[in-house]
Amino acid sequence: MELGKREIHDHERFINYGREHRYSNDWFLRKASYLGEDYELLTDYKGCKYKVTFYHKKCGKLWTVRAGGVVLDHYHCVHCFRSRGERRLIKFCKDNNIEILSEYAGMKAKVKFKPKSCNHEFYRSPSDLIWGTKECPYCNGLRPKENFNSFILEFIKWRKIHGWTQADIAYQLKMSNHTISDLERGYKEPNKEQISLFKYYMDFYK
Ligand SMILES: [Zn+2]
Ligand SMILES: [Zn+2]
Repeated sequence: MELGKREIHDHERFINYGREHRYSNDWFLRKASYLGEDYELLTDYKGCKYKVTFYHKKCGKLWTVRAGGVVLDHYHCVHCFRSRGERRLIKFCKDNNIEILSEYAGMKAKVKFKPKSCNHEFYRSPSDLIWGTKECPYCNGLRPKENFNSFILEFIKWRKIHGWTQADIAYQLKMSNHTISDLERGYKEPNKEQISLFKYYMDFYK
């Protein structure tokens, strides 16, 4: 496809614009004036597609950004600028004594958390933590449930009397460790087959 006259004109204008402004530090500083006094430009501006580094006095950190992000999108220091969602998460975690161990990437993306009360580390999306389950899954899972299956309690007692680990039982009964652990923690109710299988072994090794 050939370019029309008008497109050629636009293209030339674009190239000339680039030439004029490519190496002009002053021009860039004028464009970056929205940042205010707190930002100090440490590197030379070489064009919109190249990176520049600022020193942000307020946080004391270096901020490297593509110059175009400053000129066209009016970006701010990444270390300081936080979305509303992230600010909400930070406040929630401060109020609930929870440490944030990985980067925030939106309300739906999982973040690593550590409650200071138990030091367990777990992943959960910020929206789940704030509006869903607040408790640590480890502390929550290990706590016996009120309507705990009495047969499973018997089973656990029997297993411990014989000194068998969950893995021993899983191997013997050809079940996964995960299933045994879920049953014992009350995450899952045992089905008929599992109960009769357990009963069989419990009668056999009294
Ligand atoms: Zn900053
Ligand atoms: Zn915990």
